[in-house]
Amino acid sequence: MVADDYALPMEEERTIFHKIRDKEIPSSIVYEDEDVLAFKDIHPKAPTHLLFVPKHFVASIADVTPETAHIPGMLILKAQKFAKEKGIDGYKLTFHVGPGGGQEVMYLHLHLMSEQKLER
Ligand code: AMP
Repeated sequence: MVADDYALPMEEERTIFHKIRDKEIPSSIVYEDEDVLAFKDIHPKAPTHLLFVPKHFVASIADVTPETAHIPGMLILKAQKFAKEKGIDGYKLTFHVGPGGGQEVMYLHLHLMSEQKLER
């Protein structure tokens, strides 16, 4: 493996979620641990609309490999645990896949939407 294989994505390839993850631009963070960051969607489509982003970059569900197949499940578990702790008992979880599937930001993320408002 050559050194370039370890290189970070070039600036023009970094998405807005790379910058949110790396705290280069602000976001309304509601949860963070070593594997995931969750923040409020800037254009909410439900009273609660959160995005769960893995710290490890994967562009899209379409790019998941056997090596990264645990990541979507991990995001679902984090969202499930978060919702339970916040008393949100009904919600939708969505992955948009590729531009044709409505994915605007090419950094894997799980939408959590609920008619219930996040109280704290
Ligand atoms: P998707 O269409 O699945 O790629 O979803 C991208 C989501 O990111 C959209 O719902 C946007 O409203 C949201 N979004 C874009 N920029 C930001 C930002 N700076 N902070 C929070 N959410 C954002």
